[in-house]
Amino acid sequence: MKDSALLVVDMLYDFIDGSMACKEADKAVAGTLAYIEEETGKTDPDDSGIRSIFPILFVRDHHPANHSSFIPQGGPWPPHCVQGTHGAEVHKALSPYMSEDLCFYKGENQALEQYSAFEGRNPAGQSLGEVLELMEIRNVLICGIATEYCVRNTAEDLLKAGFKVSVLKDCIAYVDYEGHLKALEEMQAEGIRLI
Ligand SMILES: [Zn+2]
Repeated sequence: MKDSALLVVDMLYDFIDGSMACKEADKAVAGTLAYIEEETGKTDPDDSGIRSIFPILFVRDHHPANHSSFIPQGGPWPPHCVQGTHGAEVHKALSPYMSEDLCFYKGENQALEQYSAFEGRNPAGQSLGEVLELMEIRNVLICGIATEYCVRNTAEDLLKAGFKVSVLKDCIAYVDYEGHLKALEEMQAEGIRLI
């Protein structure tokens, strides 16, 4: 597990119970928390804080208020995850596991849609791909929202970059059930493992 990391994609209030609430989002949050507690969240008894055995990285959709993907700007989506709002916050059950330098923000450029987190950047300006390389991570476990969009695009970009990629199938939420199943099937055919 030394070369593994967990990537939590867009577990943000707007995708959980906000303007773009996705199906099974509560289940995905609970599943992720259970996974972290069982597999990675073992607390070191000598340590006062929460520490995980392997790193947990967070992806956060983080739009300016006039983002081009929003319906009022001619895009397909209702306004969501606007910088500085509650909807852009990570669910409070998961935020204790989050450290700011391992948060990767995407969708900050007004003109660009960005489903994949691969080019997302942390506050130091490093991309997700770059930080995974620096940490010598080879296996990336992905959970989050939504299967058909940000989970899928992120998983595919990581696979293309040479990482081993697994999706935690009990820890993902989706926009549309049929689309979710189809995305899982296609990801599997590409070499992404479902666990
Ligand atoms: Zn977005």
